[in-house]
Amino acid sequence: MSDKHIVIVGAGLVGTLNAILLAKRDFKVSVYEKRQDPRKQSGSCGRRTTNLALSSRGMKALRHVGLAEEIAPYQVPMFARMVHEVGGRMHALNYGRKEQFILSTQRNKLNEILLNAAEKFPNVTCFFGHKLIDCDLQTGNLKFLHNGGTVHVQADVVFGNDGAHSTIRRQMMTCSLMDVMQSYVPYGYIELPVAKTKHNEFAMDPHYLHLWPRDDFMMLCTANWDKTFNIVLFMKFETFAKLKTEKEAVDFFRTHFPDALALVGEENLRASFPTWNPYPMVTIKCSPYHIEDKVLIMGDAAHAMLPFLAQGVNSGFEDCMILNDLLDLHRNDFAIALPEYSRNRKLDAHAVCDLTLYNFLEMRQLVNTKTFRLKKRLDNLIHTLIPNHWVPLYSMVAFTDTRYHLCKKRKQQQNQILNCILVFGTVVFLLFVTSILCVLFEHALL
Ligand code: FAD
Repeated sequence: MSDKHIVIVGAGLVGTLNAILLAKRDFKVSVYEKRQDPRKQSGSCGRRTTNLALSSRGMKALRHVGLAEEIAPYQVPMFARMVHEVGGRMHALNYGRKEQFILSTQRNKLNEILLNAAEKFPNVTCFFGHKLIDCDLQTGNLKFLHNGGTVHVQADVVFGNDGAHSTIRRQMMTCSLMDVMQSYVPYGYIELPVAKTKHNEFAMDPHYLHLWPRDDFMMLCTANWDKTFNIVLFMKFETFAKLKTEKEAVDFFRTHFPDALALVGEENLRASFPTWNPYPMVTIKCSPYHIEDKVLIMGDAAHAMLPFLAQGVNSGFEDCMILNDLLDLHRNDFAIALPEYSRNRKLDAHAVCDLTLYNFLEMRQLVNTKTFRLKKRLDNLIHTLIPNHWVPLYSMVAFTDTRYHLCKKRKQQQNQILNCILVFGTVVFLLFVTSILCVLFEHALL
């Protein structure tokens, strides 16, 4: 075993995958997590959604560590978005080609599988109920709160996998030249469960991400492996605040989401109302992600993003794979790998944060417009005709490894071309109609 002691702060999804990859390199790995062991707690994901969508980047990492098969029973494939209009009409928008899908995945189960896999390594130890409260990142001395007392730990390398409100990142800001940008949108979210039917079946087709876009707010719903669903309602905090009573909440659903009200059940909606406490969503862009050969932040700690492109975990897992490749390349030399990681990753991490903001607009508003739907069809048609040269944005992000900054750049180029085609098509159509009218008019005069 290598004599380097690696400390990972945070045993979320990214921290546990990181622990597995570093353990395979024979380092002594200690994972410190402020929560109690989630495998011993009942069900709750805290502020996190019950399920999340994994796509190509996330699944590639799970295949790499041999866990894709173990999580498969807890996943449901989703091939398209199913848009629910207020009047009850529904229409599907494929994610990519017909055979391409993303996977609705049980968050707790994934965390449990990763933790079990990490703890199978004799060189990994997980410490739960240890909250990092202070650290000296130059010396690697970390101070944790545990059972009312403090525990000091000495690390050779520290990984900050401690989420969007990272203590490690906060500490890095005080002792290195680090740029950090934090922003909030005025939207929050709540989660509502949908039970299975009395015949023990899914209440809707589980192979869609169901979407209720209502311009200023939106709701989405994804299936769980146990035949239940979870709805997430995204809305401005001020709109949430206007709903003062259970009756107002039910009326709101009856007006905007009548079919979803039937799914949740009026009684259940009323019962859940007192617990509605919308969670905020933060975006973090920062750089660099490392200090010398001592510290690296990854996952939400480095690039928390809005959830609308379903890339938080996917990009966090990709972080771990990129570091893994760099450590291969540089023979475990952190002094070379960490700065190179920071240099390479910044463009992509910033780009994916920007793309999630665009996708929010697309999901809650644009999908309601005819122009968008026409553009989407055109986008898919061109992709079918020249698949190697034209890939729609969502497909690039979800079904390929294309670097996020290239996805963003290509999206802008493709969008300009689509706009030109639409303008050109409209002009040709108008000229055609005008000339027909002229001919008819001439005939009428004769
Ligand atoms: P976290 O999951 O936040 O884990 C950090 C861990 O560090 C936690 O266990 C925490 O307890 C621990 N910790 C924090 N501070 C300390 C401390 N001081 N000491 C010790 N431990 C500490 N992503 C997708 O890929 N697909 C999706 O469909 C998707 N849907 C989402 C829906 C919503 C509504 C939201 C909000 C996010 C969604 N995401 C999705 C994003 C995804 O949840 C996050 O990107 C992901 O959880 C980040 O993982 P992480 O391990 O970096 O951080």
